[in-house]
Amino acid sequence: MSILKIIEYGNPILREKSKEVTKISKKIKTLITDMLDTMYHANGVGLAAPQVGENLRIFVIDVSDPSGPINPLVFVNPKIIKKSGAISSYEGCLSFPKAYTTVRRYKNVMVKALDINGRPFIKEAKDGELLARAIQHEFDHLDGRMFIDHCRNRFEANNVLSKYNLPSIQEEFLIDEPELEEEIVTWEKQNPDEAEKLRKEIEELENGKE
Ligand SMILES: [Zn+2]
Repeated sequence: MSILKIIEYGNPILREKSKEVTKISKKIKTLITDMLDTMYHANGVGLAAPQVGENLRIFVIDVSDPSGPINPLVFVNPKIIKKSGAISSYEGCLSFPKAYTTVRRYKNVMVKALDINGRPFIKEAKDGELLARAIQHEFDHLDGRMFIDHCRNRFEANNVLSKYNLPSIQEEFLIDEPELEEEIVTWEKQNPDEAEKLRKEIEELENGKE
């Protein structure tokens, strides 16, 4: 078991496109178990290989309740084969200590990948559940993208980044998602009470941090 060093935003490794894994060798298996150890050690719900300095198409996720048994999910050479719907998500990242902001995500995703033994599997995540958002977040890392590239409000994102002494957003990487934004805004207009409740929850999370 080894805890690896997590690379922080600003390091160019995080902007590189990762390569497919050609063989799940002993070395790759060790990397995967070290990634899981590192993720649990950092209390994260997901970690992608570039975050530990390896530009390989691998990520790990565990969205289970921290008080219960662990449920590690390993994705090697993942492909998102279906995505639909839109949701506003409040996200952070182990490469951005303490910095959280609101981003756009698909609500439903279906991903095809290999497990730690090289066996193919398909995983579906729906209704904007944490797993659906985590899959998109981690998958992005493999293409050199990060959650802030999906931010709904670049001013809010920049404020948070500067608050935690992280580099500001890179305009050239911002992803324009007019369809997702439109669907989110429509939902917020149709469900003002629920939207307000979400806003309050985020505000409380923000105020609860030092
Ligand atoms: Zn991340």
